[in-house]
Amino acid sequence: MTEPRTAIVTGAARGIGAAVAQRLASDGFQIAVVDLDESSCAATVDAITSAGGTALAVGADVSNEEQVKAAIERIAAELGAPTVLVNNAGILRDNLLFKMTVEDWDLVMGVHLRGSFLMTKYAQKHMTEAGYGRIVNLSSTSALGNRGQANYSAAKAGLQGFTKTLAIELGKFGITANAIAPGFIQTDMTAATAERMKVPFDDFIKFSADQIPVQRVGQPEDIAHTASFLVSEGAGFVSGQVIYVAGGPKD
Ligand code: NAP
Repeated sequence: MTEPRTAIVTGAARGIGAAVAQRLASDGFQIAVVDLDESSCAATVDAITSAGGTALAVGADVSNEEQVKAAIERIAAELGAPTVLVNNAGILRDNLLFKMTVEDWDLVMGVHLRGSFLMTKYAQKHMTEAGYGRIVNLSSTSALGNRGQANYSAAKAGLQGFTKTLAIELGKFGITANAIAPGFIQTDMTAATAERMKVPFDDFIKFSADQIPVQRVGQPEDIAHTASFLVSEGAGFVSGQVIYVAGGPKD
């Protein structure tokens, strides 16, 4: 990179988003750490700045158009035009279909699909003007179907179609769009799933690792490593792809 680029990572207060934010900062990006509550971004911002990087905490609900608009304007003004966007913010509202409420369906669609749409819609202006951009969307192996996740799996499959369409529409502006589809990653999200299933998290991890070809569960850094590649300048001919980062093949 000739001069630092600005990268936005949503849901970056913890988990995968925090690891991606820190990894991209160490790659030389200035990071907008976006999460629901600005104060919750402090730990990620501190980790980046204490390692010598630049980061800005930005509170925004990615499913709220006004908040997204204001967040992107602030990021562009304070850090410079964002040309990298990682749509990572996510929630679970798992339940079997017959028990799933309309509210839980809408909430999950709102954060994953509407949130990624809004963030991309307002960030792409800066990328098309720069003639350069990198977009990474967080899908999931659940896109292939997962019991108790009708809402989440539909949203994560939807993100794959969204990603491919972005790649087609934005390619001529020097912008790539790709999706990462993680398998089991050890975060608060998978800890919450273990709790919902009434299984101790350690047992859940061990059971899951036994089913995974590489015999371990993933760590947020596994996803950060893949994101680092996808947002690099050298990855300019990789677009519209879904990369499963799951310790084994998925299709
Ligand atoms: P996590 O630990 O639950 O972190 C998600 C972050 O997103 C939280 O900081 C959360 O903020 C934030 N967030 C939620 N709703 C938001 C909104 N409307 N606007 C802005 N930020 C919001 O989850 P994770 O495990 O790191 O997962 C990150 C992404 O990877 C998600 O998209 C998830 O679906 C995907 N993924 C995870 C796994 C896995 O095994 N962990 C596997 C496949 C895919 P609050 O703390 O305030 O709620």
